[in-house]
Parts: sequence; structure tokens; C-alpha cells
Amino acid sequence: MNLIFTRPHKILSDNSKTIVSLNLPIHGHCRPTEICLRKCYAKSGHLAFPLPVRKQYWVSKYLSQPNIKDLIEECRSYQAVRLSGSGDLKQGHIPQVLKLARECPKTEFWGMTRKTEIASVLTNRLPNLRLMVSIDRSSPSKARDWAGALCWGPRMPGDSIPQDTRFKVFFPCHQSGRVLKNMEPMDKDCPGVWHKVKNCLSCTKCWTYV
Ligand code: SF4
Repeated sequence: MNLIFTRPHKILSDNSKTIVSLNLPIHGHCRPTEICLRKCYAKSGHLAFPLPVRKQYWVSKYLSQPNIKDLIEECRSYQAVRLSGSGDLKQGHIPQVLKLARECPKTEFWGMTRKTEIASVLTNRLPNLRLMVSIDRSSPSKARDWAGALCWGPRMPGDSIPQDTRFKVFFPCHQSGRVLKNMEPMDKDCPGVWHKVKNCLSCTKCWTYV
């Protein structure tokens, strides 16, 4: 794929659920589980179109260098910014994510990662920076043993999820905005997936959990 992409008009991506997100590529970024390989929402639909994918690579490169002034300006105008709306963070992004949270103290930076080594250096390092480790039934024990906040996603029908206070949110598997037919609702499910809230700002669960 041709990865040459000039600076996008806007670095953040608009998203009807999260309002905005910082979208990153899957390839070279994610550490997919077996379920990811089958169900990843960023592998199909608009996130997988050539232009959005090229933008994701541009954003990853941008977040790997120190001058993120434009992104800081964008983020300051939002109440909350979802990190890695697609893909996953890399080690090289860490200094810039910390800088973002430091420079935008009124903006909540939140999200999920499959990588415990990323969560361990970012989550709660600043009051407005929270990352959950995301696991599913095919995740390795290293992720399952993460002592901090966890989320379960995608939750598949029949998944047996341990009763554990580390779990803050479950994300029932959904496609094209619809939860799989045979999915039973659970208390910790993301209300956005079930269309019970307008968007993440009406919920805030992913960055206000205790
Ligand atoms: S649990 Fe709430 S904040 Fe988290 S993704 Fe779902 S709607 Fe958004």
C-alpha cells in the first residue's frame, strides 16, 4: 500500500460514539489475540478504507516525533479523547502521549491496549490519563494477570468472565452497530454498544472507574 499521506486537515478522527479518537494502524502496532484476528472492528468497514489507513500511519509517525503542537491544540478543545480508537499504541508514542496529557489538563485521555507494558507506563501517570488492558477469552496469561483495570472485549456469546473487580467494562461483540443476536446483556456491558447512551460523554465509565 502507498503510505504517503500529507498532513490531514484534522489529526483526530471524528467518531459518533467516542466523539473523537486518535486512530492508529493495526499492522505493526497490534498484538492480536486469536479473537482479534477474527473480529477486529478496524479490519473492515470505513476504518479499513485506504484513506483512513493512510491517515492512521501518518498519525503513528506524527506521534513518534516530539513536535505535537497541532495535536495539543486540537485535543484542548475536547472534553475527552479516545487513544488508539483503532490499532494500538507503541513504545515510541509514550513520550508524546504523556506530553499530550500534561499539556491538555482539562481533557481526559482514555482507551484500551492489549499491551501491559504500555498500560504500565501510561495509566494514571497523570490524573487525566487512563488506559485499561483489554483482554478476551483468547488472551495470554500475562494480560489476564494484569493487576490494574481490565476490560473484556470482544465479549463473545458464552464467554465465562471471572467475577473480578479489576473488570470495569465489557464490550459485547457487535457488527455494523448491532450486538450479535444470541448475546445476553451483562451489568458491566458498555451501554454505548447497546445504544443506551448517546455517546461516551453521556457515560464516562471508561475514564471515571474506581
Ligand atoms: S463504557 Fe461508556 S465510555 Fe466506555 S466506550 Fe462504552 S459508552 Fe464509551
